[in-house]
Amino acid sequence: LSQPLRGQKSTDPESKFEDTSDAPVFDSRKLSPELIKELVSEALFWCSLHGLVVGDRNNARSAIVPGVGLTHAPISLLPTLFPEGHWKQACEVAPIFNELVDRVSLDSKFLQDSLSRTKVVDAFTSRLLDIHSKMLEINKKEEIRLGLHRSDYMLDAQTKQLLQIELNTISCSFPGLGSLISTLHRNLLNNHSKDLGVDSKKVPENGATSGFAEALAKAWNEYNDSSAVIMVVVSPEERNMYDQHWLCKELKERYPYIKKIRCCLTTIRRTLADINQEGEILPSGALRVGNHTVAVVYFRAGYSPDDYPSENEWSARLLMEHSSAIKCPSISYHLVGTKKIQQELAKPNVLERFLDNQDDIAKLRKCFAGLWSLDDSEVIQEALERPDLFVLKPQREGGGNNIYGDNVRDTLLKLQQEGAEGLAAYILMQRIFPKTSHAFMVRDGVCYQDNAISELGIYGAYLRNKDKVIMNDQCGYLMRTKVSSSNEGGVAAGFAVLDSIYLI
Ligand code: ADP
Ligand code: MG
Ligand code: MG
Repeated sequence: LSQPLRGQKSTDPESKFEDTSDAPVFDSRKLSPELIKELVSEALFWCSLHGLVVGDRNNARSAIVPGVGLTHAPISLLPTLFPEGHWKQACEVAPIFNELVDRVSLDSKFLQDSLSRTKVVDAFTSRLLDIHSKMLEINKKEEIRLGLHRSDYMLDAQTKQLLQIELNTISCSFPGLGSLISTLHRNLLNNHSKDLGVDSKKVPENGATSGFAEALAKAWNEYNDSSAVIMVVVSPEERNMYDQHWLCKELKERYPYIKKIRCCLTTIRRTLADINQEGEILPSGALRVGNHTVAVVYFRAGYSPDDYPSENEWSARLLMEHSSAIKCPSISYHLVGTKKIQQELAKPNVLERFLDNQDDIAKLRKCFAGLWSLDDSEVIQEALERPDLFVLKPQREGGGNNIYGDNVRDTLLKLQQEGAEGLAAYILMQRIFPKTSHAFMVRDGVCYQDNAISELGIYGAYLRNKDKVIMNDQCGYLMRTKVSSSNEGGVAAGFAVLDSIYLI
């Protein structure tokens, strides 16, 4: 921490602990440099002692060898203010979104039709759809369905609306580290209650790790083979491995005697390439990988074209889909999480196809931002004139893929010139402009202050076996905060820091 605080001059951002509510909390810009220094040091020790860590970019082995090259996760020093009403709203819709994903996943015609034009121009989506088609051909049924989702929101400053950025159905990251940062912030607020004068209980407890672990354990239980394991599908190199291990640790420690088998619930980690080599399907339909029967496949890789460098990885994906193992997500759940489906669901009368309860439909629709397909020439014209009001999104996950500002216009013009087909790879979305607040962000042991904007993710877990819904919960949250000048938001991609919320 030898370097001083750095940051751009603030242009009067909202202070972190000073808001519109009746009881302003405090002004983070007025904290003394001594106190900041103390808080940073305390926070970084806490991260190291409690596993709020990631592999260090600067150490090549940190993504391969556990215990090597650990560094603290990029964090916000203090939680960000968030209105309690919007927090409750985001929590309330989580089980409805879970149910929606399940219903949409069963409508294979809707999925295939909605993505048919995307398929022609997007090779990755096309491969996913091929797997989906193959499962339809053999009439494959997934009776036990497990969803571990994260629905992300921003609070639009002008309209004060909570608007959904996207709904992730595969490989939702940071349930582990997200739970920890809430605890860290509560601790810091408690330990410095005199200086800060705030109530640490306003940082909601974060049950993301325990909720996801519970869902995985219950899915394993439904599979009903006490010798079977949970398999985490991982990348060959993963700097975020500790986040994943927090779930494995929870599974091991919390479910040691599940169904009285008197042994730990075992998790194994395999890459898609490993699974291609070691995997087979038994005559029973069960998935064997090495010496293990797999009850649940939990994907923490496999969402990006980079995860499939050869046909081997695609073979592994198809093999798993063919098997009777519970896939989190199944190919159908994966497709429901595409941006194209998000846009189709926002069209008039589409939610009504999947949900019966009018109140539920209204609640979901309330958080839909403007979403358009690029066969709408009026909207394209608008985007060419005011590109700053839109985000152009391809069918990709993991951050860093969207197009903003003048690039929206350039890309649209280029795609139009090349012919209409290319446009089908993208959707257009209303750009959301959240209120900026002052934040201290700590990365690599250095604390920066800047104007920041935040995105709140709500985790949801869903498990059903045939007609029986075993779990449908909101479980925990993840706040991510980034400098307001940055378009993209990924923590792993290096744009944002992990954060929690302080309810106002
Ligand atoms: P990904 O699946 O790659 O995470 P997202 O749709 O979440 O794709 O977009 C990545 C990031 O881009 C978000 O975390 C957010 O910071 C920013 N972003 C996405 N959509 C919008 C939007 N409509 N308005 C403002 N920022 C957005
Ligand atoms: Mg995503
Ligand atoms: Mg996202």
